[in-house]
Amino acid sequence: MRKGVQVVLKKEFFDLPTGVIYLDGNSLGPLPKAAQARVAAMMQDEWGQMLIRGWNAAGWMEQPARVGDRVGRLIGAPAGTVVMGDTLSVKVYQAVAAALNMVPERRVILSDRGNFPTDLYMVQGLIQALDRGYELRLVEPAAVADAIDADVAVVLLTQVDYRTGRMHDMASISAQAQDAGAVMVWDLAHSAGAVPVDLEGCGCAFAVGCTYKYLNGGPGAPAFIYVRKDLADRVEPVLAGWLGHDAPFAFDLDYRPASGVGRMRVGTPPVIQMAALEAALDVWEAVDISELRSASVALQEIFISEVEARVPALTLASPRAAAHRGSQVSFAFEHGYAAIQALIARGVIGDFRSPDIMRFGFTPLYLDEADVRAAVDHIEVVMRDRLWDNPVYQTRQAVT
Ligand SMILES: *Cc1c(COP(=O)(O)O)cnc(C)c1O
Repeated sequence: MRKGVQVVLKKEFFDLPTGVIYLDGNSLGPLPKAAQARVAAMMQDEWGQMLIRGWNAAGWMEQPARVGDRVGRLIGAPAGTVVMGDTLSVKVYQAVAAALNMVPERRVILSDRGNFPTDLYMVQGLIQALDRGYELRLVEPAAVADAIDADVAVVLLTQVDYRTGRMHDMASISAQAQDAGAVMVWDLAHSAGAVPVDLEGCGCAFAVGCTYKYLNGGPGAPAFIYVRKDLADRVEPVLAGWLGHDAPFAFDLDYRPASGVGRMRVGTPPVIQMAALEAALDVWEAVDISELRSASVALQEIFISEVEARVPALTLASPRAAAHRGSQVSFAFEHGYAAIQALIARGVIGDFRSPDIMRFGFTPLYLDEADVRAAVDHIEVVMRDRLWDNPVYQTRQAVT
Protein backbone atom coordinates (compact mmCIF):
# COMPACT_ATOMS: atom_id res chain seq x y z
CA MET A 1 0.00 0.00 0.00
CA ARG A 2 2.57 2.51 1.21
CA LYS A 3 4.82 1.59 -1.68
CA GLY A 4 2.15 2.50 -4.23
CA VAL A 5 1.82 5.93 -2.69
CA GLN A 6 5.57 6.49 -2.91
CA VAL A 7 6.01 5.28 -6.46
CA VAL A 8 3.77 7.83 -8.12
CA LEU A 9 4.49 10.85 -5.94
CA LYS A 10 5.58 13.76 -8.15
CA LYS A 11 5.19 16.63 -5.70
CA GLU A 12 8.24 18.45 -6.98
CA PHE A 13 6.55 18.91 -10.36
CA PHE A 14 3.84 21.10 -8.87
CA ASP A 15 3.75 24.63 -7.58
CA LEU A 16 1.51 24.18 -4.56
CA PRO A 17 1.23 27.02 -2.05
CA THR A 18 2.86 26.22 1.28
CA GLY A 19 0.42 25.39 4.02
CA VAL A 20 -2.20 24.10 1.60
CA ILE A 21 -3.45 20.51 1.47
CA TYR A 22 -5.11 20.35 -1.90
CA LEU A 23 -8.04 17.95 -2.04
CA ASP A 24 -9.68 19.58 -5.05
CA GLY A 25 -7.52 18.36 -7.92
CA ASN A 26 -10.62 16.52 -9.13
CA SER A 27 -12.11 19.92 -9.95
CA LEU A 28 -9.07 21.98 -10.95
CA GLY A 29 -5.61 20.45 -10.96
CA PRO A 30 -2.74 22.53 -9.52
CA LEU A 31 -0.12 24.36 -11.54
CA PRO A 32 2.66 22.15 -12.92
CA LYS A 33 5.90 24.14 -12.54
CA ALA A 34 6.91 23.41 -16.13
CA ALA A 35 3.70 24.96 -17.45
CA GLN A 36 4.78 28.45 -16.42
CA ALA A 37 8.04 28.26 -18.32
CA ARG A 38 6.43 26.51 -21.27
CA VAL A 39 3.72 29.12 -21.69
CA ALA A 40 6.21 31.95 -21.26
CA ALA A 41 8.50 30.42 -23.90
CA MET A 42 5.60 29.77 -26.24
CA MET A 43 4.47 33.38 -25.99
CA GLN A 44 7.98 34.77 -26.45
CA ASP A 45 9.42 32.44 -29.08
CA GLU A 46 6.33 31.35 -30.98
CA TRP A 47 3.63 33.99 -30.80
CA GLY A 48 6.11 36.80 -30.26
CA GLN A 49 8.72 35.91 -32.86
CA MET A 50 6.96 33.70 -35.35
CA LEU A 51 3.68 35.58 -35.41
CA ILE A 52 1.33 33.91 -37.88
CA ARG A 53 4.14 31.67 -39.10
CA GLY A 54 3.67 29.74 -35.84
CA TRP A 55 0.76 27.80 -37.33
CA ASN A 56 3.25 26.00 -39.56
CA ALA A 57 6.64 26.53 -37.94
CA ALA A 58 5.59 25.77 -34.36
CA GLY A 59 3.07 23.09 -35.26
CA TRP A 60 0.03 24.89 -33.84
CA MET A 61 -2.19 23.38 -36.52
CA GLU A 62 -1.32 19.78 -35.60
CA GLN A 63 -1.36 20.47 -31.88
CA PRO A 64 -4.96 19.27 -31.26
CA ALA A 65 -4.11 15.87 -32.76
CA ARG A 66 -0.65 15.65 -31.19
CA VAL A 67 -1.97 16.45 -27.73
CA GLY A 68 -4.96 14.21 -28.38
CA ASP A 69 -2.62 11.26 -28.86
CA ARG A 70 -0.92 12.00 -25.54
CA VAL A 71 -4.24 12.16 -23.73
CA GLY A 72 -5.32 9.03 -25.57
CA ARG A 73 -2.44 7.06 -24.07
CA LEU A 74 -3.87 7.75 -20.61
CA ILE A 75 -7.33 6.44 -21.46
CA GLY A 76 -6.59 3.41 -23.61
CA ALA A 77 -7.24 5.11 -26.95
CA PRO A 78 -5.02 4.29 -29.94
CA ALA A 79 -3.14 7.05 -31.78
CA GLY A 80 -5.31 9.04 -34.12
CA THR A 81 -8.59 8.54 -32.26
CA VAL A 82 -8.58 11.56 -29.93
CA VAL A 83 -8.59 15.26 -30.76
CA MET A 84 -8.55 18.33 -28.55
CA GLY A 85 -10.67 21.44 -28.61
CA ASP A 86 -13.54 23.49 -27.25
CA THR A 87 -15.03 22.70 -23.86
CA LEU A 88 -16.45 19.47 -22.57
CA SER A 89 -20.01 20.78 -22.88
CA VAL A 90 -19.44 21.32 -26.61
CA LYS A 91 -17.87 17.90 -27.00
CA VAL A 92 -20.89 16.25 -25.33
CA TYR A 93 -23.12 17.99 -27.86
CA GLN A 94 -20.98 16.82 -30.77
CA ALA A 95 -20.76 13.25 -29.58
CA VAL A 96 -24.45 12.84 -28.85
CA ALA A 97 -25.47 14.48 -32.13
CA ALA A 98 -23.16 12.20 -34.11
CA ALA A 99 -24.37 9.18 -32.14
CA LEU A 100 -28.04 9.95 -32.84
CA ASN A 101 -27.36 10.03 -36.56
CA MET A 102 -26.02 6.49 -36.36
CA VAL A 103 -29.41 5.12 -35.23
CA PRO A 104 -31.93 7.30 -37.04
CA GLU A 105 -34.93 5.14 -36.19
CA ARG A 106 -34.63 5.45 -32.40
CA ARG A 107 -35.71 8.36 -30.21
CA VAL A 108 -34.41 7.89 -26.65
CA ILE A 109 -31.24 9.28 -25.11
CA LEU A 110 -30.63 7.49 -21.83
CA SER A 111 -28.65 8.98 -18.96
CA ASP A 112 -28.69 8.88 -15.17
CA ARG A 113 -29.74 11.33 -12.49
CA GLY A 114 -26.22 11.51 -11.16
CA ASN A 115 -24.87 12.92 -14.39
CA PHE A 116 -23.31 16.36 -14.36
CA PRO A 117 -26.03 18.85 -15.31
CA THR A 118 -24.24 20.43 -18.28
CA ASP A 119 -24.26 17.05 -20.04
CA LEU A 120 -28.02 16.90 -19.61
CA TYR A 121 -28.52 20.55 -20.55
CA MET A 122 -26.56 20.07 -23.76
CA VAL A 123 -28.76 17.10 -24.64
CA GLN A 124 -31.90 19.11 -23.88
CA GLY A 125 -30.66 21.89 -26.17
CA LEU A 126 -29.77 19.41 -28.88
CA ILE A 127 -33.21 17.80 -28.68
CA GLN A 128 -34.81 21.22 -29.16
CA ALA A 129 -32.53 22.13 -32.04
CA LEU A 130 -33.14 18.84 -33.85
CA ASP A 131 -36.90 18.94 -33.21
CA ARG A 132 -37.38 15.31 -34.21
CA GLY A 133 -39.20 14.08 -31.13
CA TYR A 134 -36.20 12.90 -29.11
CA GLU A 135 -36.61 12.15 -25.43
CA LEU A 136 -34.01 12.40 -22.66
CA ARG A 137 -34.75 9.53 -20.28
CA LEU A 138 -33.18 9.75 -16.83
CA VAL A 139 -32.97 6.83 -14.42
CA GLU A 140 -31.18 6.24 -11.14
CA PRO A 141 -27.52 5.26 -11.69
CA ALA A 142 -28.05 1.70 -10.51
CA ALA A 143 -30.95 1.26 -12.93
CA VAL A 144 -29.06 2.21 -16.09
CA ALA A 145 -28.22 -1.29 -17.21
CA ASP A 146 -31.83 -2.45 -17.03
CA ALA A 147 -33.06 0.64 -18.84
CA ILE A 148 -31.10 -0.02 -22.03
CA ASP A 149 -33.81 -1.33 -24.32
CA ALA A 150 -34.63 -1.36 -28.02
CA ASP A 151 -35.90 2.26 -27.90
CA VAL A 152 -32.58 3.65 -26.73
CA ALA A 153 -30.55 5.37 -29.41
CA VAL A 154 -27.76 6.72 -27.23
CA VAL A 155 -26.51 5.92 -23.74
CA LEU A 156 -24.74 8.97 -22.32
CA LEU A 157 -23.03 8.38 -18.99
CA THR A 158 -20.33 9.97 -16.91
CA GLN A 159 -18.24 7.12 -15.57
CA VAL A 160 -17.53 8.70 -12.19
CA ASP A 161 -20.33 10.63 -10.48
CA TYR A 162 -19.19 14.17 -9.70
CA ARG A 163 -21.00 14.24 -6.38
CA THR A 164 -20.56 10.79 -4.88
CA GLY A 165 -17.65 9.36 -6.83
CA ARG A 166 -19.78 6.29 -7.69
CA MET A 167 -18.25 4.57 -10.71
CA HIS A 168 -20.05 2.83 -13.56
CA ASP A 169 -18.62 -0.35 -15.04
CA MET A 170 -17.60 0.87 -18.49
CA ALA A 171 -16.98 -2.56 -19.97
CA SER A 172 -20.27 -4.14 -18.99
CA ILE A 173 -22.49 -1.13 -19.78
CA SER A 174 -20.75 -0.55 -23.13
CA ALA A 175 -21.31 -4.21 -24.02
CA GLN A 176 -24.95 -3.98 -23.03
CA ALA A 177 -25.47 -0.87 -25.12
CA GLN A 178 -23.83 -2.57 -28.06
CA ASP A 179 -25.99 -5.70 -27.67
CA ALA A 180 -29.11 -3.53 -27.60
CA GLY A 181 -28.07 -1.65 -30.73
CA ALA A 182 -27.55 1.63 -28.87
CA VAL A 183 -24.57 3.96 -29.25
CA MET A 184 -22.42 4.42 -26.14
CA VAL A 185 -21.01 7.82 -25.19
CA TRP A 186 -18.81 8.04 -22.09
CA ASP A 187 -17.92 11.22 -20.28
CA LEU A 188 -14.51 10.75 -18.65
CA ALA A 189 -14.34 14.11 -16.85
CA HIS A 190 -13.58 12.44 -13.51
CA SER A 191 -11.78 9.44 -14.98
CA ALA A 192 -8.94 10.73 -17.17
CA GLY A 193 -5.83 10.83 -15.01
CA ALA A 194 -7.69 9.24 -12.10
CA VAL A 195 -8.61 5.65 -12.90
CA PRO A 196 -7.46 3.14 -15.53
CA VAL A 197 -9.65 3.43 -18.62
CA ASP A 198 -9.59 1.06 -21.58
CA LEU A 199 -11.52 2.92 -24.24
CA GLU A 200 -10.62 0.67 -27.12
CA GLY A 201 -11.21 -2.42 -25.03
CA CYS A 202 -14.69 -1.40 -23.92
CA GLY A 203 -15.74 -0.88 -27.52
CA CYS A 204 -17.72 2.30 -26.92
CA ALA A 205 -18.33 4.57 -29.90
CA PHE A 206 -17.52 7.95 -28.34
CA ALA A 207 -15.88 9.39 -25.28
CA VAL A 208 -15.33 12.94 -24.14
CA GLY A 209 -13.61 14.58 -21.21
CA CYS A 210 -11.81 17.60 -19.89
CA THR A 211 -8.18 18.24 -19.07
CA TYR A 212 -8.29 20.80 -16.25
CA LYS A 213 -9.29 18.27 -13.57
CA TYR A 214 -6.93 15.36 -12.90
CA LEU A 215 -4.78 16.12 -15.94
CA ASN A 216 -3.79 19.55 -14.55
CA GLY A 217 -4.08 21.52 -17.80
CA GLY A 218 -5.25 24.68 -16.04
CA PRO A 219 -8.51 26.64 -16.02
CA GLY A 220 -9.89 26.75 -19.55
CA ALA A 221 -7.80 23.83 -20.81
CA PRO A 222 -9.46 22.25 -23.86
CA ALA A 223 -11.64 19.17 -23.84
CA PHE A 224 -11.03 15.98 -25.78
CA ILE A 225 -13.21 13.75 -27.91
CA TYR A 226 -12.60 10.13 -28.88
CA VAL A 227 -14.27 8.41 -31.81
CA ARG A 228 -13.80 4.67 -32.28
CA LYS A 229 -11.49 4.06 -35.21
CA ASP A 230 -13.96 2.26 -37.48
CA LEU A 231 -16.51 5.06 -37.06
CA ALA A 232 -14.28 8.07 -37.45
CA ASP A 233 -14.67 8.38 -41.20
CA ARG A 234 -18.42 7.92 -41.02
CA VAL A 235 -19.62 10.21 -38.25
CA GLU A 236 -21.40 13.40 -39.26
CA PRO A 237 -20.14 16.44 -37.36
CA VAL A 238 -23.05 18.60 -36.22
CA LEU A 239 -20.70 21.53 -35.62
CA ALA A 240 -19.23 21.74 -39.09
CA GLY A 241 -16.41 24.19 -38.45
CA TRP A 242 -13.70 25.08 -40.93
CA LEU A 243 -10.91 23.34 -39.01
CA GLY A 244 -12.85 20.09 -39.19
CA HIS A 245 -13.04 20.52 -42.98
CA ASP A 246 -11.05 18.27 -45.24
CA ALA A 247 -9.20 21.25 -46.73
CA PRO A 248 -9.68 24.36 -44.59
CA PHE A 249 -7.40 26.47 -46.74
CA ALA A 250 -9.19 25.59 -49.95
CA PHE A 251 -11.96 27.81 -48.57
CA ASP A 252 -14.64 25.80 -50.35
CA LEU A 253 -18.16 27.10 -49.93
CA ASP A 254 -19.38 23.64 -48.98
CA TYR A 255 -18.46 21.62 -45.93
CA ARG A 256 -16.66 18.35 -46.46
CA PRO A 257 -15.50 16.60 -43.28
CA ALA A 258 -11.84 15.82 -42.73
CA SER A 259 -10.88 12.18 -42.55
CA GLY A 260 -10.81 10.62 -39.10
CA VAL A 261 -11.39 12.20 -35.72
CA GLY A 262 -10.04 15.51 -37.04
CA ARG A 263 -13.55 16.22 -38.31
CA MET A 264 -14.57 16.78 -34.70
CA ARG A 265 -12.44 19.92 -34.59
CA VAL A 266 -14.47 23.09 -34.93
CA GLY A 267 -12.53 26.36 -34.99
CA THR A 268 -9.20 27.82 -33.91
CA PRO A 269 -7.67 25.79 -31.08
CA PRO A 270 -6.59 27.42 -27.78
CA VAL A 271 -2.87 27.32 -28.57
CA ILE A 272 -1.57 29.06 -25.46
CA GLN A 273 -3.73 26.99 -23.17
CA MET A 274 -2.59 23.82 -24.92
CA ALA A 275 1.04 24.78 -24.30
CA ALA A 276 0.21 24.65 -20.58
CA LEU A 277 -1.53 21.32 -21.08
CA GLU A 278 1.44 19.87 -22.97
CA ALA A 279 3.70 20.73 -20.04
CA ALA A 280 1.17 19.19 -17.65
CA LEU A 281 1.15 16.01 -19.72
CA ASP A 282 4.93 15.68 -19.37
CA VAL A 283 4.33 14.77 -15.72
CA TRP A 284 2.29 11.79 -16.87
CA GLU A 285 5.04 10.29 -19.00
CA ALA A 286 6.48 8.55 -15.96
CA VAL A 287 3.19 7.57 -14.36
CA ASP A 288 1.73 4.08 -14.40
CA ILE A 289 -2.02 4.60 -14.13
CA SER A 290 -2.63 1.33 -12.32
CA GLU A 291 -0.05 2.26 -9.69
CA LEU A 292 -1.64 5.68 -9.45
CA ARG A 293 -5.00 4.02 -8.91
CA SER A 294 -3.63 1.79 -6.13
CA ALA A 295 -2.13 4.82 -4.44
CA SER A 296 -5.39 6.74 -4.75
CA VAL A 297 -7.37 3.89 -3.24
CA ALA A 298 -4.88 3.59 -0.38
CA LEU A 299 -5.21 7.31 0.41
CA GLN A 300 -8.99 7.18 0.18
CA GLU A 301 -9.19 4.20 2.51
CA ILE A 302 -7.06 5.97 5.12
CA PHE A 303 -9.23 9.06 4.78
CA ILE A 304 -12.53 7.20 5.13
CA SER A 305 -11.48 5.13 8.11
CA GLU A 306 -9.95 8.12 9.92
CA VAL A 307 -12.93 10.41 9.28
CA GLU A 308 -15.43 7.75 10.31
CA ALA A 309 -13.48 6.98 13.48
CA ARG A 310 -12.96 10.58 14.52
CA VAL A 311 -15.81 12.64 13.03
CA PRO A 312 -19.14 10.88 13.59
CA ALA A 313 -21.19 13.86 12.35
CA LEU A 314 -20.09 13.15 8.77
CA THR A 315 -21.86 10.44 6.78
CA LEU A 316 -20.08 8.68 3.94
CA ALA A 317 -21.86 9.57 0.70
CA SER A 318 -19.52 7.61 -1.59
CA PRO A 319 -19.66 3.88 -2.24
CA ARG A 320 -17.85 2.01 0.52
CA ALA A 321 -16.30 -0.48 -1.86
CA ALA A 322 -13.19 1.07 -3.42
CA ALA A 323 -13.87 -0.74 -6.69
CA HIS A 324 -17.08 1.25 -7.10
CA ARG A 325 -15.50 4.61 -6.33
CA GLY A 326 -13.48 6.92 -8.56
CA SER A 327 -10.77 9.09 -7.03
CA GLN A 328 -12.87 11.19 -4.68
CA VAL A 329 -14.57 10.70 -1.36
CA SER A 330 -17.69 12.58 -0.34
CA PHE A 331 -19.30 13.02 3.03
CA ALA A 332 -22.77 14.39 3.66
CA PHE A 333 -23.27 17.01 6.36
CA GLU A 334 -26.16 19.43 6.72
CA HIS A 335 -23.83 22.43 7.05
CA GLY A 336 -21.38 21.11 4.49
CA TYR A 337 -20.92 24.40 2.68
CA ALA A 338 -19.87 26.23 5.84
CA ALA A 339 -17.70 23.32 6.94
CA ILE A 340 -15.81 23.38 3.64
CA GLN A 341 -15.33 27.14 3.97
CA ALA A 342 -13.96 26.66 7.48
CA LEU A 343 -11.59 23.99 6.16
CA ILE A 344 -10.40 26.20 3.31
CA ALA A 345 -9.64 28.93 5.86
CA ARG A 346 -7.32 26.41 7.51
CA GLY A 347 -5.61 25.49 4.25
CA VAL A 348 -7.49 22.27 3.50
CA ILE A 349 -9.11 22.80 0.14
CA GLY A 350 -12.02 20.58 -0.79
CA ASP A 351 -15.32 21.68 -2.26
CA PHE A 352 -19.06 21.52 -1.77
CA ARG A 353 -21.79 20.21 -4.00
CA SER A 354 -25.42 20.93 -3.34
CA PRO A 355 -27.34 19.98 -1.29
CA ASP A 356 -25.02 18.72 1.46
CA ILE A 357 -21.94 17.08 -0.06
CA MET A 358 -18.41 17.77 1.17
CA ARG A 359 -16.16 16.50 -1.60
CA PHE A 360 -12.48 15.57 -1.38
CA GLY A 361 -10.35 14.54 -4.35
CA PHE A 362 -7.37 12.18 -4.05
CA THR A 363 -4.48 12.81 -6.38
CA PRO A 364 -1.41 10.74 -5.53
CA LEU A 365 0.84 12.81 -7.81
CA TYR A 366 1.04 15.46 -5.12
CA LEU A 367 -0.71 14.03 -2.04
CA ASP A 368 0.76 11.59 0.43
CA GLU A 369 -0.41 9.83 3.53
CA ALA A 370 0.84 12.60 5.82
CA ASP A 371 -1.25 15.15 3.91
CA VAL A 372 -4.33 12.98 4.24
CA ARG A 373 -3.84 12.45 7.97
CA ALA A 374 -3.23 16.18 8.47
CA ALA A 375 -6.41 16.98 6.53
CA VAL A 376 -8.39 14.70 8.82
CA ASP A 377 -6.91 16.48 11.85
CA HIS A 378 -8.32 19.75 10.51
CA ILE A 379 -11.70 18.19 9.72
CA GLU A 380 -11.86 16.85 13.26
CA VAL A 381 -11.18 20.29 14.76
CA VAL A 382 -13.64 22.08 12.46
CA MET A 383 -16.39 19.65 13.41
CA ARG A 384 -15.56 19.18 17.10
CA ASP A 385 -15.29 22.92 17.77
CA ARG A 386 -18.16 23.78 15.42
CA LEU A 387 -15.90 26.21 13.57
CA TRP A 388 -18.30 26.05 10.62
CA ASP A 389 -20.94 27.75 12.76
CA ASN A 390 -19.66 31.22 12.00
CA PRO A 391 -21.52 33.76 9.85
CA VAL A 392 -18.47 34.37 7.63
CA TYR A 393 -18.71 30.80 6.34
CA GLN A 394 -22.42 30.87 5.53
CA THR A 395 -22.53 33.19 2.53
CA ARG A 396 -22.42 31.24 -0.69
CA GLN A 397 -20.05 32.44 -3.37
CA ALA A 398 -20.68 31.99 -7.10
CA VAL A 399 -18.38 28.97 -7.29
CA THR A 400 -18.80 26.47 -4.46
C1 LIG B 1 -16.43 19.12 -15.13
C2 LIG B 1 -17.48 18.52 -15.97
C3 LIG B 1 -17.99 19.21 -17.09
C4 LIG B 1 -17.58 20.61 -17.40
O1 LIG B 1 -17.86 21.00 -18.70
P1 LIG B 1 -17.13 22.25 -19.33
O2 LIG B 1 -17.79 22.48 -20.61
O3 LIG B 1 -15.68 21.93 -19.44
O4 LIG B 1 -17.32 23.41 -18.38
C5 LIG B 1 -18.91 18.55 -17.90
N1 LIG B 1 -19.32 17.29 -17.61
C6 LIG B 1 -18.87 16.62 -16.54
C7 LIG B 1 -19.34 15.23 -16.27
C8 LIG B 1 -17.95 17.22 -15.68
O5 LIG B 1 -17.51 16.57 -14.60
